[in-house]
This record gives sequence, C-alpha cells and structure tokens, in this order.
Amino acid sequence: MRTPRIAIIGAGISGICMGVALQRAGFTDFVIYEKADDFGGTWRDNTYPGLVCDVPSRYYQLTFAPNTQWRHLYSSGPDIQRYLLGVARAQGLHRWTRFGVEVTAATFDRARWQVSASDETAEDFDFVLCATGFLHHPSWPDIAGLDEFGGDVMHSARWRHDIELTGARVGVIGTGSTGTQLVGALAGNAAEVVVFQRTPQWILPTVNRKYTPLSKALYRRAPVLGVASYWFFRAAFAAASQGLVHPGRMRRFIQWVVEQHLRSVRDPELRRKLTPDYPAMCKRMVVSDSFYRAVQRPDVTVVTDGIDRVEKRGVVTVDGRLRELDVLVLATGFDSHAYMRPMAITGLGGHTLDQAWANGPRAHESVMIPEFPNLFMLIGPHSPVANHPLTAIAEAQTVRIVGWLRRWRAGEFETVAPTREATDRYNARMREAAPNTALASGCRSWYLGADGVPEVWPWSPHRYEKLIRSVPNPLDYHLMPCPAERK
Ligand code: NAP
Repeated sequence: MRTPRIAIIGAGISGICMGVALQRAGFTDFVIYEKADDFGGTWRDNTYPGLVCDVPSRYYQLTFAPNTQWRHLYSSGPDIQRYLLGVARAQGLHRWTRFGVEVTAATFDRARWQVSASDETAEDFDFVLCATGFLHHPSWPDIAGLDEFGGDVMHSARWRHDIELTGARVGVIGTGSTGTQLVGALAGNAAEVVVFQRTPQWILPTVNRKYTPLSKALYRRAPVLGVASYWFFRAAFAAASQGLVHPGRMRRFIQWVVEQHLRSVRDPELRRKLTPDYPAMCKRMVVSDSFYRAVQRPDVTVVTDGIDRVEKRGVVTVDGRLRELDVLVLATGFDSHAYMRPMAITGLGGHTLDQAWANGPRAHESVMIPEFPNLFMLIGPHSPVANHPLTAIAEAQTVRIVGWLRRWRAGEFETVAPTREATDRYNARMREAAPNTALASGCRSWYLGADGVPEVWPWSPHRYEKLIRSVPNPLDYHLMPCPAERK
C-alpha cells in the first residue's frame, strides 16, 4: 500500500483532531503547520478576562480524550487551553508540528499540492487539510480617530496583559459573546466600565458550578459517568437546536426564557436599552450569568448612542458627548468569512480560491471545493456552528477525510474533488432551508453572507454529523484514477 504525504494547516482544535485521526488510521507522513508558537488556536489566542466556554466541558471535550477532572461545568479559557495542550502532548503531536511557520500558498500541480511557507520552504504533498478555523482574524472596526486615542487600545482576541485595568476607565465596544463576558469580569475591577452597545443581545441565563472533590473522585473512579454526561448534554443541545432550525415550540420556549431573564434588569429605561428588536437566536445566542448583574452596577454605563469618533481623551458619540477613557477594548468579533485566507490557494487550471469564492464561501458538505482536488477543510463553510460545539463537528469531519485517505492508500484514485453540480445542488438546498432558521429572522450577524443569507447549516447539527460520517455518494465526485506506477 502506498503512503500519502499530508499537510495539515493549523494546530487548533480541528488540527489536533485531524492529527490524532491520522495517527490512529496509520497515516504517519504528515506535517502540521502552525503559524503561532503553540497548539490551541482560538483558546491560545483568546486570553481576555472572564473567558468561559459556554458549552459544558463534558460535551465540549474530544471524545477520544475524556477528561475526568474538569473543575467547572463550564470551563475557563485557560482550563480548556491546558486540556488541549495535554491532548496534543499525550498524542505526541509535537513530533509532527512546525511552530512559527505560516503557510503562504498552496498550489495544485500535476496531482500534488506544493505548499509554500514563511520559512521559505516549498514542499509537495498529496493532500492539504485546512484546519485554520474561522474566528481567527480579529475584526478592527472602522471608527474614525481610533489611531488618535491617547490611552491603550486592544482587540479582545489580542489581550495585552501588560495593561493595568484596576482603577482604569475602560470602554468596551461590542456586546457579543465576548463583550458580555468581558463586561461581567471587568465590572468591579476597573474604576468604571463604559459599554458601547450597537445592538442589544438576547441572553440565556446560566449557572456555572464547581465540581466538588467528591464528584471529581466519582468521575475518576467511574469514567462511564463522563460518557453519560456527554450523551446527556448532547441530547440537551440537540433539543435546543430544534429552536434554531424550526419555528415552533422550542423556539417559543427559548424566547420566553430570555425575556424572563431580561426582567432581572430592574430599571425600565436600562431594560428598554437592552431589549433587542429581533427574535432570540437570530444572532449567536449569548449565554451569561453576569452581564445583566454587571450593567446594573453604578460603575457600569451602557451607551446606546452610536459612536461618532474616537479622540485622544475617549469616545465621542453621535450626540456629541465625550466619554473619557484610559483603555479601549474592541470586542468587535472576527472576519468569519476568511477561513484559510489570506493563504493563496490555487487549484486546477490556475483557478484561485478568491475566484471560486467570489460570491461567498461555498463547499460540498463543508469539507471540499470543486476544482480543488485533494484539499479538505475542517469547520469549512456552512458547518453547523451557532451554539453547537465545534469539537463534535471537527471530529465527525475527520471521519470523512480519513475515509478518502484510506481509499487513496488502497489505490482507488489519485485525486478527488466534488463536482460543480453536486456542490451547487447541495448549496441550493441549504439556501432553500435557510429562511426556516432563526438566523434569518432579521438581524445583523456574522452568520450572514454578503447577500444576507445565513452561511450556516440550516438543519440539526446531528443531521450534519450523520451525513459527514456516511459514505460519500460516488456520483458527487470526480475521481482521477491512480496511474499503475503509483499503486
Ligand atoms: P461578535 O459576536 O461578532 O460581536 C461583535 C460585537 O461588536 C457586536 O456587538 C457588534 O455589534 C459589535 N461591533 C462590531 N463592529 C462595531 C462597530 N464598528 N461599532 C460598534 N459596535 C461594533 O464577536 P464576539 O463577541 O467576539 O463573538 C464571536 C464569536 O466567537 C461568537 O459568536 C462565538 O461563536 C465565539 N465565542 C464563543 C464564546 C464561548 O463561550 N463559546 C465566547 C466568545 C466568543 P452588532 O451586533 O451591531 O454587529
């Protein structure tokens, strides 16, 4: 049997999953390129105060690496990062990983990919697996005068721990999952927190619990409890996802819950400011036990007048009022449509990824692109993201990718790419279903493509997992046969 040479790009959660899946399937000739200096991806990059994963750890964890010793129901960013580093170490992934090396280009030529990197290397591979994530290019808002601010400015995903916040007047722009967590953590530590809210969010209440020494001992002694927890949370998330994808009872129930939660804001004027004019789950649902408490403190102000400009002393809103600040935090999200770009990817006939995606990122079953043979993506376009754990999706996608690699190893084909027709059909079906989802209920969000249609899987995440774990339909692919001398 022949051995494929494989490049994995990115050593975040999906890169780790992929590396482990390759090893387990006996593929050992691979390189993981990672532009940073460690594993972890988003959990390495995001170190802002208050960062907690809003999916229970026992469901967020990778099924092949159960951790019996989680400290909390919802883990902090540092705990998840420690877990991921532990998984990478235990699986020996360092051996395959080149840290501090950024892939700049990948070009398909004569059945192989040439991968060029920032260390000036150019190597040939049979397969390229992009595990670059989609929430990794911080989005800097286009606000006049931002460069003129006299204090410190930082993006939430590039937290500067050298900046002293205790006793400082801190402005936070943005109230997504990140901004709300940050405000909860900064309130009471900073002298004053000013929240610049462009659009209010519906917020699901939650309670984070610490696992007691007794419960940790039980989970250690009886790992089956961890497995049972995983399946319990999976079922709960599946039930809640019904609200996202169908109008109906679950959607109405979630709407009722968030409205009741909002009632915990006692001041009617503040409550009015915090009330969205769109339905719950249209934006990614924020889950927080601290935001409403924080904004009711006397040292926290919610500003809903639009930002006109930033000047040396602070932020000026459209009503002409200056809010004087020492630190400005941009919790303004990410360019979620970039995926593996700015890497220059060139497929068959010199066709570039930018050309293929001129009308927005499209893929077949989220993992492959027509005219880009032997190139796979993890958490590619239209993966079921929303509030669902990406870990489960990435794991399921590795099954499909390993399936194709096994067939290559057995000499069934030299290159594989989905047909244009199958990809168009698949994307058309998703567009048809998109209006049923809460994501299309009339708000601005990072889910939406340039045409306003959500670029997210419009059915239950488990339906996607079932699809991607199944054997691919042969009619949907162009297979180039393997030349006899390469079998
Ligand atoms: P986000 O959801 O995109 O939110 C960005 C916020 O910044 C929004 O409130 C947005 O307002 C505001 N904003 C952007 N540009 C602005 C401007 N020019 N002026 C004023 N406001 C501006 O970003 P995020 O909060 O970083 O979250 C991104 C994703 O990361 C989440 O949706 C989630 O998938 C993931 N995340 C997950 C967790 C977790 O616990 N699992 C935690 C954090 C993040 P508009 O709403 O008006 O656009």
